[in-house]
Amino acid sequence: MGPVHKPRVRPRGVLEAWLERLRRREQRLVRASAEAPLLLLSYPRGGRAVAEEIETACARTFPRLNPEIRVPYEGVFERLPTLVVVLLRPRNLCDCLGHHHPRGTESRLTRRLAADLGSPVGEIDLAYEAIRRWEPQPLAAMAVGDLGSRLPDLHFQAALLAVWLHELEHLAFARSAEHETRTRSNWFYTCAMAQLVAEESGAAYGMAASLPPRP
Ligand SMILES: [Zn+2]
Ligand SMILES: [Zn+2]
Repeated sequence: MGPVHKPRVRPRGVLEAWLERLRRREQRLVRASAEAPLLLLSYPRGGRAVAEEIETACARTFPRLNPEIRVPYEGVFERLPTLVVVLLRPRNLCDCLGHHHPRGTESRLTRRLAADLGSPVGEIDLAYEAIRRWEPQPLAAMAVGDLGSRLPDLHFQAALLAVWLHELEHLAFARSAEHETRTRSNWFYTCAMAQLVAEESGAAYGMAASLPPRP
């Protein structure tokens, strides 16, 4: 019956490769805070513990941070789609802590979701091992009392949130300037870390009592 029924080997190969990739990843839906978009975390098998830490950061830690720290991001949330896919990987080849994926460059997962939902779906990626090792300010300077062993966990929470918000800001404002976005997310990290350390040590420490000026 002519070329119409010719076996189409390549598309099938592509599809199978894609299904195989999907099977290697797991998904988790996370409701961060009332204002923030719904997050669909997509992570490699074995990344469940990290996905749980990110869920804790976005759904538990973020909402209880001082409102003054969260206010600058209200305008960001307002401009985002109701659903944002967060692709989690240990590291990026380019060494970046994360990226936003401008419209049209999203993964197949996100594009299919958007098509099925009939509404835009945003996408960012976060490189969780790189974020864990990121040191925007020396942790040693914050070590108080016997907090030492808890410090890396607090840092990871604050750092995940800072990079998450940084990429969401880029996603919301296509022309956001890197310098301003970074100044804001570093400020967020400093304030969040000060609050978490203060709560954990049961004492006001560093800049928890008075926030550094908002950029
Ligand atoms: Zn990069
Ligand atoms: Zn950036």
